[in-house]
Amino acid sequence: YSSVATLKECWNQIDRHNTEINAFISLNDRTLLEKKAVESDHRRSNGTLQSTIDGTTIAIKDNICTSFLPTTCASNMLKDFTSPYDATVVQLLNEAGSLIMGKTNMDEFGMGSTNVHSAFGPVIHPDRSDDIQRSPGGSSGGSAASVAMDMCTAALGSDTGGSVRMPASYCGLVGFKPSYGRCSRHGLISYANSLDTIGILTKDVKSCANVYDIIDKYDEKDPTSIPNELRTELNENDAQLSLQFKNDLNGLVVGVPQEFYVDSLSSEVLTSWRDGIKRLQSLGAKIVSVSIPSVPLALPAYYIIALAEASSNLSRYDGVKYGHRVPDHKLLYDETRSSGFGDEVKKRILLGTHVLTAGTYDTLFLPAQSARRVIQKEFNQVFKQPNLLYSKSKTGQAHVLLVPSATSRAPQLNQLNQGVKAYIDDVMTLPANLAGLPAITVPSTHSIGLQLLGQYGYDNFVLRIAEIMT
Ligand code: GLN
Repeated sequence: YSSVATLKECWNQIDRHNTEINAFISLNDRTLLEKKAVESDHRRSNGTLQSTIDGTTIAIKDNICTSFLPTTCASNMLKDFTSPYDATVVQLLNEAGSLIMGKTNMDEFGMGSTNVHSAFGPVIHPDRSDDIQRSPGGSSGGSAASVAMDMCTAALGSDTGGSVRMPASYCGLVGFKPSYGRCSRHGLISYANSLDTIGILTKDVKSCANVYDIIDKYDEKDPTSIPNELRTELNENDAQLSLQFKNDLNGLVVGVPQEFYVDSLSSEVLTSWRDGIKRLQSLGAKIVSVSIPSVPLALPAYYIIALAEASSNLSRYDGVKYGHRVPDHKLLYDETRSSGFGDEVKKRILLGTHVLTAGTYDTLFLPAQSARRVIQKEFNQVFKQPNLLYSKSKTGQAHVLLVPSATSRAPQLNQLNQGVKAYIDDVMTLPANLAGLPAITVPSTHSIGLQLLGQYGYDNFVLRIAEIMT
């Protein structure tokens, strides 16, 4: 293996296809990267590699701060913004010796599921075999397309409501959203901070686990980072359970929650879900039907909470502190925000502001928060492992849950759902964010992904099961 050779293959793919698929917004300095790759190859021959991802090519979603490249969130608001510091995850990847290729295109501020809401233009699905332009999924569409197109081995994305798992599904990739609080959000530009999670996209589970291993660290700069004491406890339980499964799934109980069987599931997705169940059974797992009755509340609850938080988080773009600024003395704030944000972002800020106003706070925002707690509780009741955040939670029988990652395969760009209808595409992925659970998309048939969901903190266990399954 040579890092220099792999790096050059990645550049070759970027040079040939980036103009067409629009995966990268900015690219890292090539002289510097080549120097790092040469050093990595030296370490490989000396047996002094810094980590399992030393010399690995990685792309970073453009809402994760880097001091060496701009961080735009695919917005005109930040199109010339460069952060004075690296996000903690970027720092960890750098220290581990990985090669950061560039920053990837996305839906503006993470708002979308098809990567068409970008100030830099849409990302095009890399598979053009039937001559139809499809969406790679969003909002981490550039991260997914770059991995699928072999422009890098791995990519970081962010997953607030499915933005890593859905594009992974559309592009036939592995997409992992760790438990909330496992990977530092310091330097991840907030969309909806109580739901935002750093995620990883790769072609196989092993590479994903290698990256996860590096970024799964406590960070004092993130107040929601899982503290070390709880982390140790979670890790012990996680490791103990993982050790029970080596090459097969004998003894594993997989729950299939009935509420994910929704009307909008396409027949292809239904077939891959059934195939996934058979695959797990053939490896020795026992399948049980389980119920999470409040799952239908996830979609409205998510869009109320996410947009409320977004309206607050995005108030910092005022033309004074960051990025874009229209120097109009009387209308600085209005003019800056009107011209800086795209339409989808504006719509969401307005909706989010609406649910936080006096009349609707009690009728929309608080019920959405209650629904979120109920969903969390119901997940706890189906998992065999207790949720260590709530020491006395009642438990059930499933070790993991198996559900689809999306309701259809990658949609055609000229046939996308419009307006609020587009939000319905996220039904499969939102529940894990509301409950803070680890969830992974693994590729299945018809380039449709399936999702494994685990109890809070059991991230390596979920990766283990995904690896055995694939
Ligand atoms: N599609 C969802 C939304 O638009 C999720 C986005 C995300 O995970 N960043 O809010």
